[in-house]
Amino acid sequence: MKLNELKLEVDYFEFDENLYQKVKPTPLKNPKLVSFNKKACDLIGLDYKECETEEFLEFMNGTKVLNGSIPYSMVYAGHQFGYFVPQLGDGRAINLGSVNAWHLQTKGSGLTRYSRRGDGRAVLRSSIREYLISEHMHALNIPTTRALAIIDSQTFAHRDWEEESCAIVLRMSPSWIRIGTFEFFARTKNAKENLSLLANYVINQSYPHLKDEKNKYEKMFYSLVDKSAELLTLWQVYGFQHGVMNTDNFSVAGLSIDYGPFAFMDYFEKNSICNHTDEEGRYSYNNQPYIARWNLLVLANALAGICDENRLKEYMKTFLPQHEKVYLELMNKRLGLDASKSGNGNLYLILELLGSLESSKMDYNVFFYRLTNLKSFDDLSSILDIAVFQEPLKKWFESYEKVCNEQNTTFESRYEIMKKVNPKYILKNYIIQEAIEKAHEGDYTLVNDLLKIAQNPFDEHKNFERYAQPTPMKYSNIKLSCSS
Ligand code: AMP
Ligand code: MG
Ligand code: MG
Repeated sequence: MKLNELKLEVDYFEFDENLYQKVKPTPLKNPKLVSFNKKACDLIGLDYKECETEEFLEFMNGTKVLNGSIPYSMVYAGHQFGYFVPQLGDGRAINLGSVNAWHLQTKGSGLTRYSRRGDGRAVLRSSIREYLISEHMHALNIPTTRALAIIDSQTFAHRDWEEESCAIVLRMSPSWIRIGTFEFFARTKNAKENLSLLANYVINQSYPHLKDEKNKYEKMFYSLVDKSAELLTLWQVYGFQHGVMNTDNFSVAGLSIDYGPFAFMDYFEKNSICNHTDEEGRYSYNNQPYIARWNLLVLANALAGICDENRLKEYMKTFLPQHEKVYLELMNKRLGLDASKSGNGNLYLILELLGSLESSKMDYNVFFYRLTNLKSFDDLSSILDIAVFQEPLKKWFESYEKVCNEQNTTFESRYEIMKKVNPKYILKNYIIQEAIEKAHEGDYTLVNDLLKIAQNPFDEHKNFERYAQPTPMKYSNIKLSCSS
């Protein structure tokens, strides 16, 4: 379809007008296309060749409004680092409407009523990060928002004592509703009515099978608990750290959203913290499932007006056990094993592995890729050679070999399982950083190359063998700034 043939639907104006703002995007100066994503074009039925037109740039920049689109921003609240902030909102994101149930949103399109002290902008650096990582998460089968395109510009913004060029990334999601949205609605004058409307909206959007159920709001919550348990498992299994798991960055549709100072960890570190303002490690790798549980309890509180809160809290007791169960299943797969073949799901083998990875300083995801391709227990050099300390892993391999034999597996049988879950490429921060640095010089080719790798992490990428190697120590587990 041509850009002009797309017809957007806006469904948010059924809410009280204090719950959103109709707002005009503020265009960037001299917009320039950085990258567009054919797979995302397919999702909305847009002919990708349209992305190379002047009109597409105008659309991205907000100077061209598509059929049916009425741009607006949403208000929400949220707990940031555990503290309640009564009013946040789309301070730099503008919703355009939906196509094929994908809600389009530009990030970095200028001030809105909810910008607070911000400038309404997003810099090129963080836009590239969000664009690439959303597509990568999707390719790893981790539920996530998506991204259609990025533009760069000659508008500049101040971040961390530097001037950086501003960009706009077009994000798409089946839902942009956050726990923080419920927190805001729960504190409005007509809380009950507003909450019911919002819950109905979320059910329509993300849980349509519940529409005619009794106690549907409670069931919506239970479904979200299940989805979140699964999502957090996937994050843990792949070493993904979100970095800012505030309740306003936590989706009620079970998606990964709002990518900021995230990281796929380089060498394994249980208490790794990727956000450098997170001094206490509230959002450390190991804490993530517990924080998700905390966030869901905040939602249970917000839903008290329309649900039996005690039932919600009772259901929350299933969150960690569900998470642990799926975690074992998936970690077994990453080892080529079957959790059901062991009384405890090979729990001790996995715990021992995590300890060994940490004490040997091993690149987490590279380890699994090399394990996938291991041909014999007599030659572990492809793995041991990239460990800083080899002894702990040598010991673990003794346990692993024993379990592999006890459970009647072979190198071939394990390979068949592992090749589906252990990608060759993981977009670690230092890799994305290289593309950002080139982009700052006006060269966007690496962004586009990385998009291909991000979307096809299990494939070979001939010219990019280096990115399948362990992260150089000096770039490993670096903390990122929140400024974006
Ligand atoms: P975050 O934790 O990055 O998702 O952002 C928290 C809140 O700050 C959200 O309500 C954002 O919309 C808002 N925000 C972040 N950066 C900016 C900015 N540059 N201008 C306006 N609002 C912003
Ligand atoms: Mg956010
Ligand atoms: Mg953010």
